[in-house]
Amino acid sequence: MVHENCGVVGIYSLEGSNVIPYLIDCLRSLQHRGQESWGLAVPRKLPYKKTGLVARSAHEFEKVITKFSSNIGIGHVRYSTFGSSSLENAQPLKVRDLCIAHNGTISNAEQLSNMVGGCTFTPQNMTDTLVAAQRLVGILKKKDDMKAAMSILKNEMVGSYCFTFLTDSNTIYAARDPKGFRPLVLGYHKDTNTYVIASESCAFSSIGAILVRDIEPGELVRIDKDGITSERFSESANHAHCAFEFTYFAHPSSIMEGKNIYLARKKIGEYLAGKFPISDADVVIPVPDSSRPAALGYALKLGVPFEEGLLKDRYSKKGSMRSFIEPLTKDRKEINQNILPIREIIENKHVIIVDDSIVRGTSSRAIIESVKQAGARKISMVITYPPISYPCYAGIDFPSQEELIAYQVASGENNPDIVGKKVAKIIGADSVLYNDNLTLAKGIGLSKKELCFSCSSGDYTPLGIRPNFNSRYQINDKLITN
Ligand code: SF4
Repeated sequence: MVHENCGVVGIYSLEGSNVIPYLIDCLRSLQHRGQESWGLAVPRKLPYKKTGLVARSAHEFEKVITKFSSNIGIGHVRYSTFGSSSLENAQPLKVRDLCIAHNGTISNAEQLSNMVGGCTFTPQNMTDTLVAAQRLVGILKKKDDMKAAMSILKNEMVGSYCFTFLTDSNTIYAARDPKGFRPLVLGYHKDTNTYVIASESCAFSSIGAILVRDIEPGELVRIDKDGITSERFSESANHAHCAFEFTYFAHPSSIMEGKNIYLARKKIGEYLAGKFPISDADVVIPVPDSSRPAALGYALKLGVPFEEGLLKDRYSKKGSMRSFIEPLTKDRKEINQNILPIREIIENKHVIIVDDSIVRGTSSRAIIESVKQAGARKISMVITYPPISYPCYAGIDFPSQEELIAYQVASGENNPDIVGKKVAKIIGADSVLYNDNLTLAKGIGLSKKELCFSCSSGDYTPLGIRPNFNSRYQINDKLITN
């Protein structure tokens, strides 16, 4: 079974402009959400799909822009949270006359597959997105109404989802799950009277469109030749926006739930300076790239110099890529080996390294080792995300509990200070200072109740499940009434 998080786009030009160049630019700007494959779809054609980064297919852009010329289309960049990165699993997928692009994880896809003839799937060809699409098409055959179909499907799925759908009769739909785990935003390009839906607003900046608003959790947006309409397929009193999007996943220029990601990260750093005012520090350095604003906020608040003591070698084969979302350990290691220390910044100093998270601990260990080799006198690590001791069932690749370093060293312990002391010994730092959920929520600027913290708290109420943790993808557990 293949599960995935990712980035999605849907574009409709009401004045009839060819939207394929816009689609490609939007997907390029969402590349940080998925590096494994990408694709786009227009009505009445099979989707175009490629493996690797969007930019690696630049030699085909002209041909694609002409061949798929259309005023309506959807697109996708893929990051699999489990399973193979084959072209077959790239999106958009097409099931009958419906194309689908998905950001999130349907964690009970194997159960759902029983409703669509599960025995016809093999682990290699089954994706959670394909199962959801098959089921949706089955319901649409009986209901012929997208809102009614999503109202049924949402009760059958466990997990997170932002969908863009495209029909052969020239309609785009976008749906966001009732808790709003993953982001989804609506934009508008005035010059071409074009509506754009995307995982993040950084996609709008790339084509000169403006952010109109977040798509609400439980909202279904429809765009056709008559314009845009909105209805609700689910009412949701409690939202559960993924806290990890704010510290790591999203692009710093994006705005989510009214919060700019760069400023939120900087603010998180400021709060951490209040929580951990290390008095004898000589320099604050970020682990590139996502922790840079937090390190800056931390350093400014503390009055300690901020320096770029670790730099990525962007000319190596994988130098521009993000390590955490690479599916294979060897690739993650290769990316981390290309983070190089600057001895002149580090030597004989008490260095505070700011990072966004510690998941398995392998990257942190490698970074501590290289900073030691560059002559650091003392190393304190400040982590903007609380200890991750529980798997994610809503779209981020936090592995089985046994692989998580916070669980390995302190199973059952949720106190960030105690976990930090134990993790420090394993990764070789003098201290590891973790954020806590409440301080993180304050830094983000949202109430703790509006955010998901299941991976740090072990409370899966937002998903309505009680996992057994044997595997991230066996949701055989009893449903909690939500
Ligand atoms: S469990 Fe963690 S990573 Fe997954 S959605 Fe919740 S906050 Fe995000």
